[in-house]
Amino acid sequence: MEAPDFIDCDVVVVGTGAAGVAAGLAAAEGGAKVYVISKMPHHAPSPTTRAWGGMTWSTEQTADELIRQVVHTGGFLSDQRRVRQFADAVPATLNKLRIEGCDFDDPQPAGEGMPGIVRWSYRGVDSGEEAIQRLIDASSAQCMWLFAATEVLVQDGAVCGLAAIGLKAREAVIFRCPCVILASGGGAAAFQRTDNPPGATGDGIAMAWEAGAELVDLELISFGYPEARVQDVLERGEELREELLGLGYGHYFLGGVRVDERCETNVRGLYAAGEVTGGLFGAARLGGAALADCFVFGLEAGHNAAFAAQTRAVELDHIVVDAACDRIEGILRGSRAPAPVHERIRRILWEHVGPVKTAGSLQHAVEELHAIEADLAFTGGASREYIRAAVEARQMHTLGGLIAQASLERKETRGCYWRSDYPEPDNEGQLRNIVLRKAKSGCELSSQPPVMTELTEPPAPRIGAGCFGYLTRLSDAIGPGSGR
Ligand SMILES: Cc1cc2nc3c(=O)[nH]c(=O)nc-3n(C[C@H](O)[C@H](O)[C@H](O)COP(=O)(O)OP(=O)(O)OC[C@H]3O[C@@H](n4cnc5c(N)ncnc54)[C@H](O)[C@@H]3O)c2cc1C
Repeated sequence: MEAPDFIDCDVVVVGTGAAGVAAGLAAAEGGAKVYVISKMPHHAPSPTTRAWGGMTWSTEQTADELIRQVVHTGGFLSDQRRVRQFADAVPATLNKLRIEGCDFDDPQPAGEGMPGIVRWSYRGVDSGEEAIQRLIDASSAQCMWLFAATEVLVQDGAVCGLAAIGLKAREAVIFRCPCVILASGGGAAAFQRTDNPPGATGDGIAMAWEAGAELVDLELISFGYPEARVQDVLERGEELREELLGLGYGHYFLGGVRVDERCETNVRGLYAAGEVTGGLFGAARLGGAALADCFVFGLEAGHNAAFAAQTRAVELDHIVVDAACDRIEGILRGSRAPAPVHERIRRILWEHVGPVKTAGSLQHAVEELHAIEADLAFTGGASREYIRAAVEARQMHTLGGLIAQASLERKETRGCYWRSDYPEPDNEGQLRNIVLRKAKSGCELSSQPPVMTELTEPPAPRIGAGCFGYLTRLSDAIGPGSGR
C-alpha cells in the first residue's frame, strides 16, 4: 500500500472518554498541537457516557483516609505511590473541572465513619456526556471521530507516531508525533456478557503490548454478579458452570498498561490514562473512583506529554510506516466478514477466562484462540462496521491471550478475581503484581511485590462482585457496595 501523507502534531490522544478529553485539554493548554481521536461517532455511548456520574473525592485533610479505602479495597495490590498521587490530586482536579464548566451536585457523605470522603455527582441528565462535552468545548485540542487506531509506531524504543484507519474514507492515516496518550478505556466488552457499550474492547492494552509497553495485573477484571452466587463460583464453579455463565457481566478492567507517576510507560513518549491503565486499584475498585482516576491522570498525562513533546523531534522510518500500512491494507481488503470471529472471541473469553475459571478452562481458551488465528487474518472488508469489527477482533484476540496467561499465573482468589481451583486468597505466595511484556519468544512474564509505601500490613482481602462499597471498619468482610 502506498504510504499516505502524514499528519504532523505533538500529541495524539486515543479516546474521547473522560481520560481522553482531560488529556487533550491539558496537552493543548501546555502549548501542544493535539488531536483526540475516537473510533466511534460523536455522541456514541461509551463507559464514560454510561457512567452514573458518582465520583469519590477526598479533601486536602482526608487524603490518608481515601488511600486507606483504595488500598484495602484492592487487597493490597495497588501501587501505593500512585494511590498517594491520586488522593493528593483530587481536590485540585475537581476545581479544574469546575473552572472548565463541569457542573456538580452538592457532595454527599460517602458513608459513616469516613469524615471527609464524599461523593460528587455530575449535574445534568446525560451527565457523563455533558461533562466531557464541556471539556471538549473548553479545549483547543481537535477531536476526530471515526478514526480507529491500529498501532503505535515505535522506533529505537521511542514513539514516532500512530497508525489509524479513517472509517469514513476507509483509508490509512499516519500521525507523525513524539507522544501518544492511550485513553482508550478498558476491555469489558471483549466478554460476551457485559454492561459496557460496544467498542470497549481493550484496543489500547493490546496496542501498548505490541509497542513493547509493560502491562500489569491484566487478569484483574471486575465482573458484576449476583452476590449470593459468588460463593457458588468459588466452591462449585465447574459443577455449575453452565448455570453460572448465564449470570453476570464484565464490568471494569482493574489491570492494564503500566505507567509511572508521569503516566508514561516504559516506551518513551507513550503515555496512558484512565481505565486502560492498571496498578492503581489492585484487585477491586472503590465505587465512584474510576471517573476520578480518569480526570486526575488524564490531566497529568496531557500535561507531561505536552512538555515532553517540546524536546523531541521525530523522523518516521518508512519501513515502520510501510509495515503498518500493509496491515491496514490487509483489513481493508479482508475477504471474510468479521462478525463471527468477533463473537467467537467474546464467547471464548466469557466462558473460559471470565468469572468462572480454572487452569483447565484457561488453557482451553489459549488453544481455542490459537485455533482461530488463520480465520482472523482474513477478516475485514469495505464497510465502516466491518473495518471496526476487524480491528477490534485482532485487538481482542491479543488481549484475550494475555489475560489467559496472566490468569494462569495468579493462583488465588482476591477481590474481584476468582479462581474456582484456588478459591482462597494467598497473602503468603500471591501478594504480587504480575507484569507482562512482549519478548522475541512471545510473552515474558514476571512478578514483583506491590509498592507499599504507606500501608504495610495486609489483612485477608475482601472478595466480591462489581465495585466495592466503603469500609467503615477494617474488619468489615463485606462484599460489593452500591457504587459503580
Ligand atoms: C454502566 C457503567 C456505569 C459506571 N458508573 C460509574 C460511576 O458512576 N462512577 C465511576 O467512577 N465509574 C463508573 N463506571 C466506570 C467508568 O465509567 C469508566 O471506568 C470510565 O468512564 C472509563 O473512561 P475512559 O476515559 O478510561 O474510557 P472510555 O469511557 O471507555 O472511553 C474510551 C474511548 O476510547 C475510544 N477508543 C477505544 N479504542 C479505540 C481505537 N482503537 N481507536 C480510536 N478510539 C478508540 C472509544 O471510542 C472511546 O472514545 C461505570 C461504568 C459502566 C460501564
